[in-house]
Amino acid sequence: MILRTLGVGLLEAVFPPACAACPDVGREPFCRICAEALVPADPVEVEGAEAAAAIWTYGGPVADAVRALKYEGRWALGRPLGAAMAEALVALPPVDVAVPVPLSRPRLVSRGYNQARELCRGLPLPVRARALVRRPAHEQVGLGRTARRANLARAMESGAQSVAGARVLLVDDVITTGATAEAATAALLAAGAKAVVVLALARTPLLQDDESAAGLARPT
Ligand SMILES: [Zn+2]
Repeated sequence: MILRTLGVGLLEAVFPPACAACPDVGREPFCRICAEALVPADPVEVEGAEAAAAIWTYGGPVADAVRALKYEGRWALGRPLGAAMAEALVALPPVDVAVPVPLSRPRLVSRGYNQARELCRGLPLPVRARALVRRPAHEQVGLGRTARRANLARAMESGAQSVAGARVLLVDDVITTGATAEAATAALLAAGAKAVVVLALARTPLLQDDESAAGLARPT
């Protein structure tokens, strides 16, 4: 695993534009073959947000890209993937600043970077990465939908950078149930943001059953 990660790192150093989902190089964020397998995301709704959108449906090359970005140390994929997200801004209400959905401190320390912060590098917006802080969530297992949402809402609060009066673009990698984006939106509005627009790289396919959605929730 270490050798493989090292190999990917060396490959990227020699051939910078690499596909986010396969070993192909020359085109980013996805090579031609992976790009053909991309599926546009279903509409997204986040309570409290003025608008919300995701670029692709989670799965296939998008799932591979998110895995690489989050779990394989390929933080440099954030910029080209974020640049792909930037193309969606024209269809969304205007925004002044980008705020990435934060990781809890222990997770940030263990991963070394916040993937949502890396996605912000591809956006043509000033970034306020310390506008929100996230406390480690309490155990979510066994809680009902309402209790889970209350739990998440308590975990998100305003941080060292102000968003007062700003129209904020909240940036996340994957939207699953929307509960995290909803909690972050509420915290931004409570901190004085004029409006919040949510943009994610991907969303999981729409599910009827909330328990199935909870089962899909991955560690952030
Ligand atoms: Zn590819």
